[in-house]
Amino acid sequence: MSEGRRRYLELQRELGGSEIILSAPTAGRLDGSTAGQDAPAPSPQQPAPTQPSSRPVPSRPIKHWSSDAPPIPTAQGIIVPGSDQGLLAAPSPWSTLEDVAAEIATCRKCFLCQGRKKTVPGEGNRRARLMFVGEGPGQTEDETGRPFVGRAGELLTQIIEAVELQRDDVFIANVVKCRPPQNRKPLPEEIAACSTYLERQIELVRPRVLVALGATAAEAMLRVKKSLTELRGRVHSYRGIPLVVTYHPAALLRNPNWKKPTWDDIRIARQLLDR
Ligand code: URA
Ligand code: SF4
Repeated sequence: MSEGRRRYLELQRELGGSEIILSAPTAGRLDGSTAGQDAPAPSPQQPAPTQPSSRPVPSRPIKHWSSDAPPIPTAQGIIVPGSDQGLLAAPSPWSTLEDVAAEIATCRKCFLCQGRKKTVPGEGNRRARLMFVGEGPGQTEDETGRPFVGRAGELLTQIIEAVELQRDDVFIANVVKCRPPQNRKPLPEEIAACSTYLERQIELVRPRVLVALGATAAEAMLRVKKSLTELRGRVHSYRGIPLVVTYHPAALLRNPNWKKPTWDDIRIARQLLDR
């Protein structure tokens, strides 16, 4: 199997891609319902029995991310007024992403500055068309100063690659730039203190599509208190930019049942990019 094909299959397996079928004899369907799911993958030491040459197993095509993608929802989402060009925002002292990061590096506007090792301003393509926003740095992020580099980050990278983008293509940021103690949720006052940084980052990158990862990011950006269930399945507008809400990758690690809905949300965001 080619490296590219192997990687793609790994991504699909990670995401629980129910519509993806591995070519026999490696495994059956990957969703929960169909026979073959529990069949162990052949180990290198014990190669799978080869099929009799009289009955060649057709290698089934791997579906593209867009096949069976859900349609872009038409339901009215929440509208955060303003413009992505900052025309209505207060003038900002920061004219580049580096300016924003430099300000964050010495920021002491909230309690979270006390426990941080490194600030995590965010990173990625300064002209990204797609921008992800998470909650706040975890332990690995706090140690490295980079967003989404722990286990949840690996999953986020896989999600990005599954829709034919690279991590370098997108911008990844968080609602708060310093790690909350014990990875607790950032408090409203911490989110409020940090909000100008994210707002300015969005203005500077001007992505075509925003994805909020988890309820904390969604609530902070949309300025509402609602459940993820209420916020998913609609395209919101953050100062003129379409915003899709989905599960946080860390939540997917705890509950794999959310991978399929996340895969749907991500494909909605991906389609919005092409619109
Ligand atoms: N979780 C987040 O919300 N952000 C990160 O950067 C890492 C984990
Ligand atoms: Fe400043 Fe944000 Fe860090 Fe709080 S979380 S100290 S507001 S950079």
